[in-house]
Amino acid sequence: MNIQELIRDIPDFPQPGIIFKDITPLLINPTALVYCADELAKLYPFGAKIDKVIGIEARGFILGSMIAERLGAGFVPVRKKGKLPSKVVSRSYGLEYGNDVLEMHKDAIHPGERILIHDDVLATGGTAKAVCGLVEELGGIVIQCNFMIELSFLEGKNKLSVPIKSLLTY
Ligand code: AMP
Repeated sequence: MNIQELIRDIPDFPQPGIIFKDITPLLINPTALVYCADELAKLYPFGAKIDKVIGIEARGFILGSMIAERLGAGFVPVRKKGKLPSKVVSRSYGLEYGNDVLEMHKDAIHPGERILIHDDVLATGGTAKAVCGLVEELGGIVIQCNFMIELSFLEGKNKLSVPIKSLLTY
């Protein structure tokens, strides 16, 4: 299935110079949605169990929870500052466009748990690096970061010292 044609480029969003990769045309196509979830789950082909899949707010929640279901893992949301109700760990990070703070519940991950991190796009890698830091702070082990799309020209991979996989590379 050609999912590339269901990903729309929006120039100059959310600010001039950024070409935003919009996955919403893919999400409204039920066949493509299931296909992507299946293919993303297959990016982790090893038998050893994944305990939790982390989805990064907000687009990482959608396919992240579908991957968790396929891997028989729990789902953990990583959210922007101030959104989670209980005790959190937090990290600030740099985006392709700006800075922000990400948080995760302190009791979401236990020491030694095997973690897969999912987001829609890997750009500069700042977001994924911050989430790896949150996992490690709680004693979890990042087994893989997987993405729908990697913008390889931004070299986000170089920031990360964990295995990276993506469905599409630009
Ligand atoms: P980064 O930390 O630079 O790797 O940015 C990754 C985060 O920002 C992800 O959560 C993406 O959803 C979002 N993002 C960054 N650049 C883009 C882009 N060109 N198109 C869509 N989302 C993007």
